[in-house]
Order: sequence, then C-alpha cells, then structure tokens
Amino acid sequence: MSRNVATLNQALIDELRATLGTARAWLGEWLEEGVEAPATLGAGGQDYAARIRPRTSSSSVAASRAVPSAPTRSGPRPSLPEVRERLGDCTRCPLSEGRHSIVFGDGNPAAEILFIGEGPGAEEDKRGLTFVGRAGELLTRMIERGMGIPRSEVYICNIVKCRPPGNREPLAHEIAACRPFLDEQIDAVAPKVIVTLGRPATSVLLGRDLSITRVRGAWHDYRGTPVMPTFHPAFILRQYTEENRRLVWQDLQAARNRAKGEA
Ligand code: URA
Repeated sequence: MSRNVATLNQALIDELRATLGTARAWLGEWLEEGVEAPATLGAGGQDYAARIRPRTSSSSVAASRAVPSAPTRSGPRPSLPEVRERLGDCTRCPLSEGRHSIVFGDGNPAAEILFIGEGPGAEEDKRGLTFVGRAGELLTRMIERGMGIPRSEVYICNIVKCRPPGNREPLAHEIAACRPFLDEQIDAVAPKVIVTLGRPATSVLLGRDLSITRVRGAWHDYRGTPVMPTFHPAFILRQYTEENRRLVWQDLQAARNRAKGEA
C-alpha cells in the first residue's frame, strides 16, 4: 500500500517536473521572441515589459517600443585602451554594486568581425572575460568550427559590462549607462561586420524592440557597418534543435563571407 502511494507520488512529481520544464521552455521562447507579459502578471511581468525600453511618459506604442538611439560619432577614433580607461572603475549604474569584475571585452582589437552579447554571466564575472561559461563554449565552437576562424581573431563584448543579478536581462537605464562605451568599442575596433547575439543586443543596436526570430538572418546597418543578428548561444543551448543550429550556422557563414568581401 505505502509502496503504491510512493509510486503515485513519484509519478505526480515526474509529471509536475515535465510540465514545469515545458512551461519554462515556452517562457524562454516567448522572452526570446520579445512577447510582452500582460499587465495581469503583476510587478514581475511589467518589469519584463519595461526592461529594454527607455523610461518614457508617452503612451504611443511606437515611442514605448523605442530604445535609446545611437549617438553619432564625433572626433578621432578612440583606441580600446582609451575606452577602457574612460570606463574606469565604473559606478554609473547599480550593476556595479554586485559585480566581481568589469567584463569589458576581449579579442583582436582590429577584428573584422565584432560579436555583441547581452551581459556577463557568473563565470564571466568571476574571470573578467566575455563568453567563458557554457554559452561561451558554444559560441567559441560556433566561431572556430562554424566560421573556421580562431576565437582570438574576433572581438567580443556585451551591451552591459557588469553582470545583471541572477542573469536577468539588463534594464534600460543600465544599458543606457554602458552605451557610450559600447559605441566607442565599435568605433575603436571598426569591424567590417557586427554579429549581434540574441534579442537584447540586436534591439539595442538597431534602436527598436524587436523579435530575434523575425530579424535574424537578414542584413541590417549600424552607422554604416553591416549587422547580422543571430540567436544567442544560450538560446541555442536551451532549444538545441537541428533547425536552430542550421540557422545560426547560416547566419555566421553570411557574416564571415561578408567580412571577407565574398558576399
Ligand atoms: N552571455 C552573454 O551575453 N555575454 C557573455 O559574456 C556571456 C554570456
């Protein structure tokens, strides 16, 4: 009898786990797609919807979906060490309070291809380097095996340089505080091609809140530099399907060919 109850309990637990797993996968997909949480979700849902938007008093949909636009470059091209020096021991936003390291960016300062991710995770925060966790291992494989170039040949940075707590997406004011340094990094590296990884990085660079599934695979422009948006490697790890891997592979081939002047 008690064995039967235990078996039943285990079956219920397994079913609950499976249901939770499915719900989590759906949520991940919706977040990745840019689906907004309804207001009835309460503070958490509204917080998500507000994340990458600037604070605005306008009720217009167009205005509320806008993200801070790119400043135009003026003056001479900066060097990466100059940009790093200007960033200093940054306390411009609250992310500085919880960080272990500033993850500025790494790679070839004269790279032809610049990758832009979202923000450091736990491993990156610990080591002060971009993409060195699980998603980073996949990104390295994508670059080295998929594109056929050593990782040290490209440059990699993020839209925010300090780890958002719990790996949440960076908020609009955090992105805005880091934005001048991102733009200066782009100016300093002056890549032939930029690859944005996932929705937040793509939305920030292209200046509007958008769905990565809709814009990936097509060329965009950032102040005269071609931009190829693709899925974030963390999304690929969550949705490790043949189709997703094929799409990323396709995007990276396009980026490599364009950087080599072959497309
Ligand atoms: N995810 C990112 O977007 N950036 C990193 O540096 C690591 C994980």
